[in-house]
Amino acid sequence: MATALITGSARGIGAAIALRLAADGYNIALNDISEKSFEENDIADRIREKGVECEIFICDVSSHEQAEKTVKAVKERFGSIDVLVNNAGITRDGLLARMSEEQYDTVVAVNQKSVFNMSKFVGSIMMRQRSGRIINLASVAGIYGNPGQMNYSATKAAIIGMTKTVAKELGSRGITCNAVAPGFIKTPMTDKLTDEQKAAMLGQIAMKRFGEVEDIAGVVSFLASKDAAYVTGQVIEISGGIMM
Ligand code: NAP
Repeated sequence: MATALITGSARGIGAAIALRLAADGYNIALNDISEKSFEENDIADRIREKGVECEIFICDVSSHEQAEKTVKAVKERFGSIDVLVNNAGITRDGLLARMSEEQYDTVVAVNQKSVFNMSKFVGSIMMRQRSGRIINLASVAGIYGNPGQMNYSATKAAIIGMTKTVAKELGSRGITCNAVAPGFIKTPMTDKLTDEQKAAMLGQIAMKRFGEVEDIAGVVSFLASKDAAYVTGQVIEISGGIMM
């Protein structure tokens, strides 16, 4: 049975992707930075109820060393890694004039370096397998920019460049790499926004609703599927029609 590894999957979009890929028949390697995140929900049990195997791998994906150890452990446990979803991400918002170096560097490490770390180590396994799917979580902030998110939008734009580079480097080995760019999706990350910010966002969305985590999981499922075998280096916006 094929295996999918989803980073930052204790909650939010990552948990929804893990549940969807489990329903698609993948064994699931969950990851998050601490056990605490998994104590708040029963995601691993809900995945096992779908008849697949599931294991939790605690690791800070921004650490090159921890990422390498974790990828090795996932491969040992499941035998292969067929789908990697680089989902872990954080925000540390602030207007440029007030943004600290720490705010900038932390977001770059978690959102951007993690994609380098995980794609490098999983990519080398996929190259030996001569197959694999890498799916990265970008954001509309990386395409259009967003006030208060110089750090975050920089990382999400970088992920788009990384996606196209990985697609070009690994395509000849049967590996695809694509990105999804969510708009405003209802998760703990976006719960932090003020009502004023939420109202402003809603005004820009053609469909006049915020997205659900399942809206993202469905597109990731497609990109992992046989139907998407000839799709690579693409960025699919999932935003209900934002800034069209
Ligand atoms: P979320 O609810 O905050 O979940 C992110 C998960 O990543 C959390 O469980 C978090 O753990 C984990 N994480 C943070 N740092 C980590 C690290 N260093 N190593 C491993 N795991 C780590 O976020 P979300 O809204 O589901 O977002 C998921 C992805 O979609 C992110 O890349 C985000 O940028 C992107 N995205 C989201 C939206 C949106 O509207 N929600 C829009 C565009 C793009 P802790 O809980 O312990 O911090």
